[in-house]
Amino acid sequence: MASLNLKNIYKVYPSGVIAVTDFNLDIEDKEFIVFVGPSGCGKSTTLRMIAGLEEISSGELYIDGVLVNNRAPKDRDIAMVFQNYALYPHMTVYDNMAFGLKLRKMPKAEIDARVKEAARILGIEMYLSRKPKALSGGQRQRVALGRAIVREPKVFLLDEPLSNLDAKLRSQMRTEITKLHNRLATTFIYVTHDQVEAMTMGTRIVVMKDGFMQQVDTPINLYDYPINLFVAGFIGTPQMNFFTGTLTGTKTKVYVEFGKEKVLLPKDKVALIVNLDKYLNTGREIVFGVRPEDIHDSPAWLADASAPQIQVKVDVVEALGPETLIYCKTRSEVEKVEAEGDVSIVDDISNVTAKVDSRSTTKAGDTIMVALDTRHCQVFDKETEVTIIARDEEQKAYIEELQARREQEEADKAAALAAKLAEEEAKLALEAEKRALKLQKKLGKKADASVEEIAEVIDEEITVDATDDKADAE
Ligand code: ADP
Repeated sequence: MASLNLKNIYKVYPSGVIAVTDFNLDIEDKEFIVFVGPSGCGKSTTLRMIAGLEEISSGELYIDGVLVNNRAPKDRDIAMVFQNYALYPHMTVYDNMAFGLKLRKMPKAEIDARVKEAARILGIEMYLSRKPKALSGGQRQRVALGRAIVREPKVFLLDEPLSNLDAKLRSQMRTEITKLHNRLATTFIYVTHDQVEAMTMGTRIVVMKDGFMQQVDTPINLYDYPINLFVAGFIGTPQMNFFTGTLTGTKTKVYVEFGKEKVLLPKDKVALIVNLDKYLNTGREIVFGVRPEDIHDSPAWLADASAPQIQVKVDVVEALGPETLIYCKTRSEVEKVEAEGDVSIVDDISNVTAKVDSRSTTKAGDTIMVALDTRHCQVFDKETEVTIIARDEEQKAYIEELQARREQEEADKAAALAAKLAEEEAKLALEAEKRALKLQKKLGKKADASVEEIAEVIDEEITVDATDDKADAE
């Protein structure tokens, strides 16, 4: 039983790497929180700071309302499970699980009861006398979980625990860990780079990138209401389709125009656009997002007059069994590739992916119409990459603030770049001026210098410069 509060947590490694920036999160008792993001985004660092294995550079960490920044890991009442299991190879499964409790001088009978109960929950009772090397990967990971369970910790921390397992075992262990969480009714914090694990296991997910939290939400909200382009692209396979375009029309009839296409946005989405005037008929670029599963080729969808359609040319059809993936091009992409002539397969970009019914009759080479289910479409500001459609009226103010903040950041970045360029230019100008003065001085001494003599001085100057450059390089 534990709640956690992370307040303005930063991690700066001695090397100067800022691994985590301003991490803020309140975790309630019994939640299953997943930190997800690409490699290097700071998720393990955050978990290790919670465990006490990594010092918190600044900020506060509370477990059950108690500040624990300076508490040793063993005094935090947490248990951690690692990717590589970290089992003692010379000990039996039983001893591996009992070891931590023995160190804590727990009575033997209590240890025995706890180990047996954990083994029963995990279904590893028959392996208790085996050594880890005589176990499969999945069994080893269960022992590692068992070692955490016997401690009866307040919080379970799991760092990519399934990464070493093959795909089938991974999905089996995924459901086992979810069941374990339900059974133990304890707070779990789980780190993974795998969005499927995140979506299937987490009650709430923290999406991270470059040390920054991007969005904290339930799996379904991350899927339906991604806050920015990164989250939209990260959650969902195949990835959401993105089309750069603009918004046109009137306040009641708003179209997304991209390439040669013009797609009407649903009224309820339009009503939730933040600062519509900034985009409508202004040419300010947006990114239109449609998930592959919202693109349909079935006769029923194509007969539905309310669903906008676009024409595509099909490059590849992948029949996966339960579903079929269709990789195709919009009309403008077809034209672009045709204009370029004989392009390599790398440059031959299929810019639309549709996930359709496995009974689809679409074939490679077909030019077809597909219907877009725009009820779930997304629109992002191209510059800030933040969504411009709020989830509901309440979220509008937050989106507006986020847009403004990101715009300011972009402006600051541009200003800093301009200042740096100006500084470099000024430096170059100063150097050129100095050089000109030096030349003038040398030539000044020879009032009646001949052309050859001037050339000689310039030559000498160039040689000196080259020597300087070499010295600089060294
Ligand atoms: P993730 O778990 O998301 O893959 P990490 O938390 O391991 O990411 O790392 C976040 C960033 O911190 C990365 O840029 C990584 O290179 C850096 N980093 C991690 N550990 C150390 C360390 N001990 N010293 C210096 N930099 C580190």
